[in-house]
Amino acid sequence: MLSSPAMSSFELLFRERAEIERVQVAHLAEQLALVAARHPYYRELFRARAMTPRTYEDLAALPLTTKDDYMRSSGCFVLEGDGLPEEMRTVWDTMYTTGSTSGQPTPFVSTTFDFYRILELQASMLRIRGIGAGDVIANVFPVTRQPHGAWIRPFQAAAAINVPIVAAMPGAPSEFFASGRSTDEVVRIIERSGATVLWGVPSYLARMTERAAELGADLRRVRLVLVTGESVTEAARAALTAGVARCGASALVSVSYGSTETQGGFPECVPGSGYHNPAPDQFLVEMVDPQTHERVADGEPGLVVLTHLRRRGTVLVRYTLGDVSVRTRERCGHCRAWTDRLTAMPKRVDALVKIKGMLVNPGVLVEALDAVLGATPFQASVESRGEGQLAGDVLRVRVVGVMPASLAERVRVAIGVSAELESVSPESLVDFAAGWKTKKFVDRRR
Ligand SMILES: [Zn+2]
Repeated sequence: MLSSPAMSSFELLFRERAEIERVQVAHLAEQLALVAARHPYYRELFRARAMTPRTYEDLAALPLTTKDDYMRSSGCFVLEGDGLPEEMRTVWDTMYTTGSTSGQPTPFVSTTFDFYRILELQASMLRIRGIGAGDVIANVFPVTRQPHGAWIRPFQAAAAINVPIVAAMPGAPSEFFASGRSTDEVVRIIERSGATVLWGVPSYLARMTERAAELGADLRRVRLVLVTGESVTEAARAALTAGVARCGASALVSVSYGSTETQGGFPECVPGSGYHNPAPDQFLVEMVDPQTHERVADGEPGLVVLTHLRRRGTVLVRYTLGDVSVRTRERCGHCRAWTDRLTAMPKRVDALVKIKGMLVNPGVLVEALDAVLGATPFQASVESRGEGQLAGDVLRVRVVGVMPASLAERVRVAIGVSAELESVSPESLVDFAAGWKTKKFVDRRR
């Protein structure tokens, strides 16, 4: 039976490209047959369009599924499991997306069968990054109000490759939570664990390593820093690398393009090598034109579109992750894997927002701020000021610590709107209630 292939997700990465594609074609046929029979959302869509997609070619005729489609009717995205083997109908866990503009998190359901796949996926992600025997991982993600992959999956990733892991438990997500640690305690926990790998959100790791340097902590065993959850510029990577160096570590910063929809991410094998699909037997990636939704050639920028293979809980077909990147299917010159890679950091294509009457692309604003601020955490927000006829927008940029003199001008040049700048304490930026990432742009207007 197809669902029990002869090799793990990781082994498949190093097979010839043609073999990877053969495996994908077979799993796609199996997944689409299950979807047509058992997936309430797509069954209806296929019926409405009088189509029965079976192949990669057929897939091109299907409309993209957006985050909105999935959020609006997430219950209809779970496969009906009656009559399938026990592992394929037992719910193992439910994770939540970090929410939308509405702030409502969306459930993502994994069956036991899916969880077994997640273990393979997570093992593959760590192996791509060269982690194995002799490593000790420090999980520096915060606990959240809803279960997210970020804090939970690292334990399972460590289990899947049989290495030790310690959780540092930064912050407190809720008034009912009593297990949070201060940044100073986090530093000491990491130091005494002898961690060789730090795994967390870049903005928090930047702050933590800065504090570690002030405390004179010895983190010289750290050789890798794994970051995910926020876009990471090369300036931010350099700043984080320098931050751990101040604690005695000569470490590489490895970035992953993570998402709830993959329950993992696409990691780099070495910095700059591109974001590797860690399980081509589980994720089929298409790249399409953001406007026409036609497939684009490798090397051309396109929307990243995901189709699940070998999934039995929440299943997404032609789902746009909302990011633009560039794909290659050439062999990686570093790790020699033949799996597909995204060669540019995926960038969110946000809807334009109107600020003070000007149409603004929040991505351009964030990029300008990233360029000046590097790894320094910040948040830009649009807020309403005044009431009724006097109401107006204010664009505010809050920056942790010292405000660079060039920032105001840089923002004005980038988007044509001037911002009010404010220097704040680190704590005020971390909105754990909204998830585990610092959101770099928020629209707080009614
Ligand atoms: Zn590689």
